[in-house]
Amino acid sequence: MQDMHFVTMALRDALEQHPAERPAILRGFHIVLNDQVRESGVQGVYEVQSQSHPDSFYDVSLHHCDCKAASSAHGGRCLHRYAVGMFRRAAEYAVTAASEALAPRGLVADICDPTRRVARELAGFPGPTARHM
Ligand SMILES: [Zn+2]
Repeated sequence: MQDMHFVTMALRDALEQHPAERPAILRGFHIVLNDQVRESGVQGVYEVQSQSHPDSFYDVSLHHCDCKAASSAHGGRCLHRYAVGMFRRAAEYAVTAASEALAPRGLVADICDPTRRVARELAGFPGPTARHM
């Protein structure tokens, strides 16, 4: 589960960028809130749970989704792509917040290398526990 605050910031960004696509954006937001986005093991590709068939998952990147909605969505931006976009944006906000929180305490070295690990932990992914959080 990602931090609600960061997901909401990502939602705000999406709505500002594509106000006409509000329905798809809001559905994507619920997908993220319901923890239905997960890493696929391939960088940049995520598995997103189907809303109509919960047993199936789509392979989704920022630029592509195989679902039917994508073919009719404006610019191919379906709810799943919005979910992935907000998921990633929220993780970026988490990394930025971690950097700003740790740097004044002299813990910069801890996040320089394992930045991605910190992001995963803040975003609620499984992983080793951070020692300085
Ligand atoms: Zn899709």
